[in-house]
Amino acid sequence: MDASAQRIAGDLLAWYGTNARALPWRSPPGMPPPDPYRVWLSEVMLQQTTVAAVVPYFEAFTRRWPSVAALAGADEAEVMAAWAGLGYYARARNLIACARAVTARDGRFPDSEGELRQLPGLGAYTAAAVAAIAFGRRAVVVDANVERVAARLFAIAEPLPGAKREIRAAVDRLTPDAGAGDFAQAMMDLGATVCTARAPSCHACPLAAHCQARGAGAERFPAKAPKKARPLRQGRAYWVERDGTVWLIRRPGRGMLAGMRALPDDGWSARADGDAAPPMPGEWAAQGTVRHSFSHFDLDLQLMLYSGSDWARFAALPGEWWSLDDLGAAGLPTLFAKAARLARKNSSGE
Ligand code: SF4
Repeated sequence: MDASAQRIAGDLLAWYGTNARALPWRSPPGMPPPDPYRVWLSEVMLQQTTVAAVVPYFEAFTRRWPSVAALAGADEAEVMAAWAGLGYYARARNLIACARAVTARDGRFPDSEGELRQLPGLGAYTAAAVAAIAFGRRAVVVDANVERVAARLFAIAEPLPGAKREIRAAVDRLTPDAGAGDFAQAMMDLGATVCTARAPSCHACPLAAHCQARGAGAERFPAKAPKKARPLRQGRAYWVERDGTVWLIRRPGRGMLAGMRALPDDGWSARADGDAAPPMPGEWAAQGTVRHSFSHFDLDLQLMLYSGSDWARFAALPGEWWSLDDLGAAGLPTLFAKAARLARKNSSGE
């Protein structure tokens, strides 16, 4: 590590000593590392999701499943329901698979980046984060916050994603041999609280003296390649309400939102576009549309209300009548929770 990198890491760690965010999965700076289960769980939850959104989920998960063994023994449908609202549901399925893989070895997470990467759902980032934060291993941890700080510190002009290699090399140069976990978390905290995407607080930054982009214009970094337009897809969901209950189905075990409880729909997730038949013939009335963004497309989901009364035919369909008073416990993914809110708003005449 060269002298300049040492000074940067030293200044950052000194700042972290008094400015670390207190988060439920963290140990304070300089203290023994937290339980690897909690580090891993938090890192999986934080992918594509904000800290503020993750905290209540993390607390609910660790209350209900306080250890990796408890999570390994959990009912998969219950884990999926508890995950509902966090999005990117493949993470929840990998979560269970990973907990079971850890329990099947000896109940402990491996402590090296290479072995961690063998576990289901652990990509390069999560393996590095767990190795550094939970085991104090030297690992290069680069999330979006770290990426932003490094791109500004060194005024890296190449746009993302091409700049990732240069950014990673820069973070590698700065990462100390000892205290890599605190260093990673310090970079994350600096990016989240000082070197923010908009209006960074360079005047309050412990790295200002080292930073090539400080002040006006820092926001230009990291440069980004122009975004491609996101496709907009169309779909329909069906609301069938009877005596204070609504008809819910379980989605197939493969494909988008697999295995989640949901409203019946027209199969939008398995096709580019077009109409499919409603779950049963009868009278259906359009109730409005909700928009939801997935990672690669936006969806306009039109909600159709059943106005027939042929209840006997539902008995032959796979699904269940679910109490509207208890709808929150159904674990609907956000898309269908939005559609349910629309239906209930319409029926209450708001
Ligand atoms: Fe970010 Fe400003 Fe600090 Fe540079 S000086 S790292 S741009 S907050």
